[in-house]
Amino acid sequence: MRRGRSSQLIRDMLSEFSINTKKLVMPIFLDESLNGKREIPSMPGIFRYDLKSFSIHLEDLVSSGITNILLFGIPGKKDSIGSSSYAEDGIVQRAISLAKEKFKVNVFVDLCLCEYTDTGQCGIIKDGYVDNDSTLSVYNRIAVSYAKAGADFVAPSGMMDGQVGSIRKALDAAGYQNVMIMAYSNKYASSLYSPFRDAADSAPKIGDRKSYQMDYRRAEEFILETSMDVEEGADVIMVKPGLFYLDIVKSVKQKFSLPLAVYSVSGEYSMLKTALEKGILPAEVLDEYIYSIFRAGADIVISYFALELGKRYQETKN
Ligand SMILES: [Zn+2]
Repeated sequence: MRRGRSSQLIRDMLSEFSINTKKLVMPIFLDESLNGKREIPSMPGIFRYDLKSFSIHLEDLVSSGITNILLFGIPGKKDSIGSSSYAEDGIVQRAISLAKEKFKVNVFVDLCLCEYTDTGQCGIIKDGYVDNDSTLSVYNRIAVSYAKAGADFVAPSGMMDGQVGSIRKALDAAGYQNVMIMAYSNKYASSLYSPFRDAADSAPKIGDRKSYQMDYRRAEEFILETSMDVEEGADVIMVKPGLFYLDIVKSVKQKFSLPLAVYSVSGEYSMLKTALEKGILPAEVLDEYIYSIFRAGADIVISYFALELGKRYQETKN
């Protein structure tokens, strides 16, 4: 076996994977109350942006070969129905227009209510419970507002039943047949989201999300969850988180033929980033990290390391 590993040239020739930065997606947080950018304490090196600093960040991304972005909004005001989420002049809607007018990028937009509701829940509360169907009608409204602003993909992340089908119908009815849906098909109730909640100011103030996010003790539920999204018209399916769920990534890839995105979440980023900053792990660990997710079967990887990886692969020319 060692003959096949004897030189760098031979190793490169025999490798089955190589990283294409066009397959990486950078998540970006937009904060309506901010002037400039502000680092997120639990995610060193990741910032919240206002529109002006967002534009500078986009230049940096594009010149590093990263042309896919996933937007999250933090509104100036929250209420019980998350009404800022579908405002025409909302921070996300304005960011979409800016990105599409000035840059050649694919714009994915997270579609959920947890950043917009005063409860921090992903839907509308009725009698102390997140009500599925009234939440869907708000999701539809948000989707159309994002499409109108120019989004390429909407990505409903709230795990309401029927959300993909409902949004597909709403988009079609409004004339946005070409706007695609990336479905958070398999989103596990994970502790690895906790730095994100700090980033997006979306921690639930009432209860938790276990009544709609998946239980990581179940290994086969992904089949039903993914099948439903496929039937409802998803264009891209997803597994989230990444690293602790690579078995699920592989299984989904084997069973379904739609493009598969893996969301490598904030906790994965913060663990690795902290170890890198402290010098506990070398920078090369990032290669192993990103290759492991593609090797498991991802077609697209959403990673807070996207910019860093873009720069890394530009420097080393892979
Ligand atoms: Zn949510």
